[in-house]
Amino acid sequence: MKRMLVALRSYVQGPGIMPEIGEHVALLGDNAVVVGGNTALKNTRDAISKSLAEHKIKYVFELFSGETTLQEIERLENFASTQKANLIIGVGGGKVIDTVKVVADDLNIPVALVPTVVASDAPCSALSIIYKEDGTIKQFRTLREHPALVFVDTQIIARAPVRFLVAGMGDALSTRFEADACFSSGAKNFIGTYTTSAALAIARLCYDSLINYGYLAKMAVENKTAVPALEKVVEAVILHSGLGFENVGVAAAHAIQDGFVTLEDTSGFLHGEKVAFCTLVQLVLENRGVDLLNEVYGFCHSVGLPITLAEIGVSSSDRDKLLQVARVAMESPLKMMENLPFPVTAHDIYDAILFADALGNLFHSRQAINEHASVNPRLETGNQL
Ligand SMILES: [Zn+2]
Repeated sequence: MKRMLVALRSYVQGPGIMPEIGEHVALLGDNAVVVGGNTALKNTRDAISKSLAEHKIKYVFELFSGETTLQEIERLENFASTQKANLIIGVGGGKVIDTVKVVADDLNIPVALVPTVVASDAPCSALSIIYKEDGTIKQFRTLREHPALVFVDTQIIARAPVRFLVAGMGDALSTRFEADACFSSGAKNFIGTYTTSAALAIARLCYDSLINYGYLAKMAVENKTAVPALEKVVEAVILHSGLGFENVGVAAAHAIQDGFVTLEDTSGFLHGEKVAFCTLVQLVLENRGVDLLNEVYGFCHSVGLPITLAEIGVSSSDRDKLLQVARVAMESPLKMMENLPFPVTAHDIYDAILFADALGNLFHSRQAINEHASVNPRLETGNQL
C-alpha cells in the first residue's frame, strides 16, 4: 500500500508582507509576467513593482480576461513566451490562479501565486479547473509541478469583501468530512496513492480552526482588521484545506456540488457557498448525530453560510431539478460518491438534500425564536436543533 504526500514549495503568510515579495520571488526567476484582474492589480501593483525592482527582477503586468478558458491560457502563453519570461506571478482570485498554474505548467516555468481573496482552497494544489466559453466545466487539469510559492498578505484579505472569506470557509468546511470519508473507505487521493496520517491530521486541523476562529475571522474582515483569528482561518482555507483535499481526497460534498452547478438557479452563488450546503447533505447521508449537526449548522449560521436550499437559489419543491442534482453527483467523472465508505443511490442523495434543507429551516426558526427570547425569556428553546 503506497502512501504519498505532495505539497507546494513555499507558503508565506502575514499582515502587510507585500513589500517582501521580491525576496521570495528572486529564488524562482528574474523575468516575470505578473497576471491579475483590475482590482487585484490596483491593490498590489505599487508594492509588487517596488519589491521586484529592488531584487533586480524584470517584470511586466498583464491584465487577466476574467475566465479560465483554453483561449485565455493560450493568449497568456503567447504573451509570456514573447517576453521570454522564466516565471509567472498570478495575483487575484481562484480563476486567475487556476489559469496561471496551467500557463506555467505548459511553459515549464515556476508559478508564484498571490491570492487577494480567500474564496476557495485552489492556490496550493497542482490541479486547475478549465471552463468552456459558456461557463461550464471543460476539464480537470492535473499539473506536473505544484506552485513554487503561495504568498498571502492578510492585510489585503482583511480589506476584501467578506463574502469571499465566508465562501472560502464553506469550501474548507467540507475538507475534514470528505477526508474522513476517503480514509474510512480506503479511497485513493488526487495523486493516485493512499493517504498519510499527516494529511488526515491537516484536514482535521482545518475544521478545528474554522470552528474556533471562523466567526471571529468574519468579524475581522467586516472591521477590515488583520487580527490573529483571521490568520488562523486564512491558513485553514488556503493551506490546510488545499493540502487536505489533494492529499486525502474529496467525496459526497463536492460530487453533489457539481450537481448543483448544473442548475442555472445556483449560478449566482460561489463554489464554497454551495459546498457548505452540500457538506450538510453529506453529514445527513453519513447519519451523523445531533451534536455534530448542531455544531456544523451553528457554525454555518454564525458566519452566514447557506443551510437551506433557498439560500443557494433552489426551491425544495422542484423534484425534477433535485433528482438531476443527485444523478449528476452519481455520475461525477472523478467518481467522488464512491469515496464514501458505503454505497448510495441517487434517491438516497435526493432524500438527504431534502432532509438537510428541512434541518436548516428548523435551525433558522429556532434561531428566530431565540432572538425573540432575548425580549421574552419564556420563549427560550436553547440555541440548537
Ligand atoms: Zn472545493
